[in-house]
Amino acid sequence: MLENSVLEKAYRWIRPVIKKISAYHVADASGLIKLDAMENPYHLSDELIARLQKKLAAADLNRYPDPSAAHLRDRLRDVMDVPESRSIVLGNGSDELIQMLAMAVADHDTDQNSGNKVCLMSFDPGFVMYKLIADFVGIEYVGVSLREDFSLDMDATRQVIKTHQPAIIFIAYPNNPSANCYDENDIEEIISMSPGIVVLDEAYHPFAQTSFMNKLIEYDNLLVMRTVSKMGLAGLRLGLLCGHPDIINEIDKIRLPYNINVLTQITAELVLENVGELDRQAKLIRDEREVLIEKMRGINALQVFPSQANFILFRVLEKNANDVFESIKQSGVLIKNMKADTGLLKNCLRVTVGTPDENKAFVDAIELAINNE
Ligand code: PMP
Repeated sequence: MLENSVLEKAYRWIRPVIKKISAYHVADASGLIKLDAMENPYHLSDELIARLQKKLAAADLNRYPDPSAAHLRDRLRDVMDVPESRSIVLGNGSDELIQMLAMAVADHDTDQNSGNKVCLMSFDPGFVMYKLIADFVGIEYVGVSLREDFSLDMDATRQVIKTHQPAIIFIAYPNNPSANCYDENDIEEIISMSPGIVVLDEAYHPFAQTSFMNKLIEYDNLLVMRTVSKMGLAGLRLGLLCGHPDIINEIDKIRLPYNINVLTQITAELVLENVGELDRQAKLIRDEREVLIEKMRGINALQVFPSQANFILFRVLEKNANDVFESIKQSGVLIKNMKADTGLLKNCLRVTVGTPDENKAFVDAIELAINNE
């Protein structure tokens, strides 16, 4: 019940679809070891921080940033091997790029050719922002269920593409939360049969080291999305979308002019000039992931899924995952509770690979949680 009639008058303008959405929830991690959000646990070297401080001190904070962030885009093209003939648009995190893409196709209710509702397709369980953004820009979301082992169900996928003719298909590669990469041939079949845009979301590329970037020149409807977040720069909020100039130019019109701020441009340029530092951190994380998976597989009461990302999905077999999650938190470690009583994520939790010490704290905490009667 709203407090008064003035508030009621104002409130009624909010679209019903927005009132129904539950906001993206970020857990409070104060005082806890933070293994819930797929962040890189390592800091930059003191030497690089010192150079960065000098550059940041000289930044023109009184001026708007370069609206197209041209230098930064050149640097990203270099570091990420974006083909010469393909364009790049930057987002304030790849979340913002997903939003721009959805907004670019959202102004029709129905497709003029097929008469279908304009829809965005992805796979479930998958990255929650695809659906959330589809909901708030007002287009339909169709999620194709993955198989038990989180691989693509190609029969169902073909059927959904045929009936719904999605404007955009998002494929997280590797997928979040399942951490696996789908079969490459299946993905190529999807790109070939798609009636619209296909976005390969390669947020976890540093840990999978496999990519569709070089396929951009083969498929004009393919876009590849990357982010610096998981590389170790989550605080900057910087993502990039690469693809055919004719599509990228249209997406760029939706971008707000100064979406990549001065501090982000300076920092990302300098750190990417020294990308070897981040590459070494990614290697440490990949190595630690294997150690952690092995330790977790040694705990009988867990089903641990394979991972090509910097996080591990696992199922608690004999206890309630909510209790195990709470017990781990009590021990001072925050992971992610998938909060599923049924379905493919039933009784599943997700942990980010941290430093060796953080991972040890997590393993100790989960052993305690499992062995506690
Ligand atoms: N794509 C996937 C698959 C993700 O898991 C995430 C973040 N968890 C993102 C995109 C968003 O990344 P960014 O920090 O660049 O917004």
